Amino acid sequence: MAFDVEKIREDFPILSRPLPGDRRLAYLDNGATSQKPQAVIDRMSRFWLEENANIHRGLHHLSAEATTAHEAARDTVSQAIGVADDQVLIFTRGATEAINLVANGLEGELREGDEIVVTLMEHHANFVPWQILAEKTGAIVRYISVLENGELDLEAWQAALNEKTRVAAFAHISNVLGTVNPVAEMTAIARERGIMTLVDGAQSVPHGPVNVADLGCDFFVFSGHKVYAPDGIGVLVGRSELLDRFQPYQAGGDMIDRVAVEGTTYREAPERFEAGTPFIAGALGLAAAFDYMAGIDWVAAHEHEQHLLSQATAGLKQIGGVKIWGEAPGKASVIAFTMDEAHPQDIATILDQLGVAVRTGHHCAMPLMTHFGITGTARASIAFYNNQEDIDALLDGIRRVKRMFDF
Ligand code: PMP
Repeated sequence: MAFDVEKIREDFPILSRPLPGDRRLAYLDNGATSQKPQAVIDRMSRFWLEENANIHRGLHHLSAEATTAHEAARDTVSQAIGVADDQVLIFTRGATEAINLVANGLEGELREGDEIVVTLMEHHANFVPWQILAEKTGAIVRYISVLENGELDLEAWQAALNEKTRVAAFAHISNVLGTVNPVAEMTAIARERGIMTLVDGAQSVPHGPVNVADLGCDFFVFSGHKVYAPDGIGVLVGRSELLDRFQPYQAGGDMIDRVAVEGTTYREAPERFEAGTPFIAGALGLAAAFDYMAGIDWVAAHEHEQHLLSQATAGLKQIGGVKIWGEAPGKASVIAFTMDEAHPQDIATILDQLGVAVRTGHHCAMPLMTHFGITGTARASIAFYNNQEDIDALLDGIRRVKRMFDF
């Protein structure tokens, strides 16, 4: 059966809202955040309408129900992403908090002269926490370059790993270039050398099922809001054995074993890292998003995304004066581009007049921009619910930009 994108679009109410001036919305900013299906919205409102209570703390009926639902959400997400028996899933505020949690925990593990390897295509969230960790511990950060076509320089990456390397952190998919890194291969190489790995899955989970156990990493992170779930919830998956060695990231209720004036002992992960009242409705919304995604034919969805990507890429090239940043084979459906004469902000402003939502700027990847000698790009990022009309609107807009700047 062909992929029925129009049917899928009905699940996302916002996609059919008109913009002022009766502009049709072409939402191509999915890399920044995704839209939410009705099922997620309904699940969250049901919690507040019928089930709201704090978890873990009450013997009363609602609290017990909320606690059960919260733990069921953890199970749903764990199963959906293939969390292994020796791993644990911690709810965080998002990918950023998850990476900071790991970097903070590793403070007790790293020493002066140890090395951390990151890549130049990382989002700042997978870049700056490692610099701070290095500052705190005296470790050194090594930065691995990106080839002209947007692929990671794998040879350089492998060559950088040595007996001092303790951690390698890298994106599954680049939020700018769309490059899909060969993470299973990379984690296997690192594991052989006893190097811990963190995979930033913020841009991969939105494009279809990911099996964390198969990726072979020690830590995996992603954000709810990019996977059709709410903002304010995210996930860290980590090996229990490592996480239980970490000092807590935040302290407070629910993460303690026993508190006394003489000192306090902590629970094991996940509770150890979930201090305070969590975003309960967010966890339920995240589980609902995975339930929703389970109903998608991802082989067909991937084909559909790739078709739109190639239409958009070919269309932009045909217009001329457009430079696309990142054309690695098998890349994901995101196109970062600049135009010879028009500034990215002008591009986005003109596109917005036509209802086309794209992002501009450095995309929280300044080291990558510096590497390419640019300050920013426009970026169209495509989700499975985008359609041909969205791409046509983008291309019409870019033709208009070209005419306006007359080059
Ligand atoms: N990593 C990547 C690759 C991202 O694209 C993003 C968000 N743009 C993040 C990390 C950070 O995600 P969040 O802001 O949701 O914590």
